[in-house]
Amino acid sequence: ATPTSIMVGTGRAAELGVLFRKGEALQTLRDAQIVAVDKTGTLTKGRPELTDLVPAPGFAEAEVLALVAAVEARSEHPVAEAIVEAARQRGLTLSTVEAFEAVPGYGVAATVNGRRVEVGADRYMVRLGHDLATFTEAAARLADDGKTPLYAAVDGRLAAAIAVADPIKETTPAAVEALHRLGLKVAMVTGDNRRTAEAIARRLGIDEVEAEVLPDGKVAVVERLKAGGQRKVAFVGDGINDAPALAAADVGLAIGTGTDIAIESADVVLMSGDLRGVPNAIALSQATMRNIR
Ligand code: ADP
Ligand code: MG
Repeated sequence: ATPTSIMVGTGRAAELGVLFRKGEALQTLRDAQIVAVDKTGTLTKGRPELTDLVPAPGFAEAEVLALVAAVEARSEHPVAEAIVEAARQRGLTLSTVEAFEAVPGYGVAATVNGRRVEVGADRYMVRLGHDLATFTEAAARLADDGKTPLYAAVDGRLAAAIAVADPIKETTPAAVEALHRLGLKVAMVTGDNRRTAEAIARRLGIDEVEAEVLPDGKVAVVERLKAGGQRKVAFVGDGINDAPALAAADVGLAIGTGTDIAIESADVVLMSGDLRGVPNAIALSQATMRNIR
């Protein structure tokens, strides 16, 4: 491509709200075969709400919610905000906690009024030695609805199954369709529950799902998708933990409303704050390169 055509291309992209931080990304994008997309905050709004709390025998709903919210008040995870907000709406008073501990990708724990409270994903509960059998069916149903099942334990006993749901952005379905029309495959990459991720992927017609990825595991996913350089991979994300994957991909595209570190690690910034910029950028890249050859 000539410098002039690249300039024209990137200028047109800017009008569409797509900022090319690196000119060569316009050329690389044309060859992209698969777009790997972070789920939370990219496909979904990143603002989950608590939808269900099923107490175990011997526990009351309000009691468990107050304990769990007290712990989550110390966490910055979107899931934590959903739980704290639900407790606020019910007018529950949150006690102060001691010995707070966050395990990234797993969950959180603390002592509340002398009681040990743990909350997080199934893999966290398994790691702590709790038996989830009583909730297996309920959790599967919640996950098949696209909700994220979580669990709470109090003083070593399983106390509740909890679900949060993060709505899909209104712009996401059309963006996925547009990518398919351009001949690309779409993959979802998420730390979320596999069954939940698969339910959301089904709804969106997403081709591949990489779920239960630990916070530092997204680079390995990008490398796997590259298949030893046989496939060109674009990665789209917004979060701190997306930064290494944005850099590792053949082209990294950051959501403009995302974190600074994601934006700094990306080749392309989507100012619209959603996925529609990706098919726009790819279509433009294909058109620009066609004009040149
Ligand atoms: P994602 O951003 O895709 O949710 P994370 O690695 O941040 O990925 O989290 C993976 C999973 O770990 C979450 O879906 C949730 O089940 C659990 N988790 C993480 N942090 C918390 C928390 N503060 N409270 C409850 N569960 C949590
Ligand atoms: Mg995200």
